[in-house]
Amino acid sequence: MLRPWLPIPPDSDFSIHNLPFGIFSDERPARAGVAIGNWVVDLATAHGLNMFPHHPEAGSAFRKPVLNELVALGRGFSDYVRKIIQTALCDSESVLKQFSDHLLIPQKSVRMHMPLKVGNYTDFYSSEEHAFSVGKIFRPENPLFPNWKHLPVAYHGRASSIIVSGTPVPRPRGQIGQANGTPAFKPTNALDYELELAWVIGKDSSVGQPVSVADAEDYIFGALLFNDWSARDIQRWEYQPLGPFTSKNFASGVSPWIVTWEALQHFRVPAPPQQPEPLPYLVNEPRQNFDLSLSVSIRPDNGEEFSVCQTNARGIYWTVAQQIAHHTVTGCNLQTGDLLATGTISSKDISQKGCLLEATLNGTQPIKLGEGIERRFLEDHDEVIMRGFGQNGDVRIGFGELRGKVLPPIS
Ligand code: CA
Repeated sequence: MLRPWLPIPPDSDFSIHNLPFGIFSDERPARAGVAIGNWVVDLATAHGLNMFPHHPEAGSAFRKPVLNELVALGRGFSDYVRKIIQTALCDSESVLKQFSDHLLIPQKSVRMHMPLKVGNYTDFYSSEEHAFSVGKIFRPENPLFPNWKHLPVAYHGRASSIIVSGTPVPRPRGQIGQANGTPAFKPTNALDYELELAWVIGKDSSVGQPVSVADAEDYIFGALLFNDWSARDIQRWEYQPLGPFTSKNFASGVSPWIVTWEALQHFRVPAPPQQPEPLPYLVNEPRQNFDLSLSVSIRPDNGEEFSVCQTNARGIYWTVAQQIAHHTVTGCNLQTGDLLATGTISSKDISQKGCLLEATLNGTQPIKLGEGIERRFLEDHDEVIMRGFGQNGDVRIGFGELRGKVLPPIS
């Protein structure tokens, strides 16, 4: 039992078991930190006080405005840093306690930044409930395409417009197909969120060398919450035959704290069985997912927030190991800081759908938020709030919040 001297609220996402990494700034420039309770541990200052004596060379990684250099030092290094902080939090004689005025900064007084320079972002489509429900809206006779149970379907997304929680999203304009077969140019009338997790790649692989499904998990640094903002009406007109383009390239949100692979191990669960068995390069046993509760709320302008989705990541059909094996099987390489997103995560019930497209059956069945308030898709000034956490006995670990507010279109 770990007993920290720092008061940590029992329902905090940032328990002593979590210790996720992020980039924050106060009156000093952006730099690396670890979240604990309502505080941030300033890693650059901690390094200056010799809290990490086995890694004197790591100081520059803590002072960078993104975590790529720290991530590239490997999971052995990040686990070492977390272990030192965990031990210091339970030792009332520690440097962390003695210099807590300098080392612990209240989260409410800092600004969080985009934690990574993301080189590549790939968006999968791994939740069977989501793929089936969306397929059923458009192809009731044939919801899943014949490839879906044989490979983890994905497309290469846009990395430059990945934004950190709190960054507003202006309503995009684009081409929207009309009944007469020609496009109108106007703001989207079907703006949606997609509730996803994104895996952070923690080490490079080489061009021409596939990563085997058995080795794939070694390449993961941790995970974030991910909101793949989508304009459904633009998507409907543009997506054939090469897939979504401007309907999804304007913004994708991430939560600011990267929950580490080590911290997530508390929540491993068996993944659902696969039938038919995939090709050998995608077969690994045991196949495992993570038991993580995920939710979405919408907060209309200046109003209270309403829950619109409660789901869980444990039922994902294609595991992250299978995603990596498939992504690299051609010889495509992974780079440190890449993100692999799961795709929208949904469960069976209508209250468990990770996007409005599914929850409102493509806008035909509005969902009720509160008295006199309903939504088919998002309206201007709506704020979308995503949360996620795991709970296993006394161990609770969460991602914090991923917030994004819809602004009126840029004129
Ligand atoms: Ca998506």
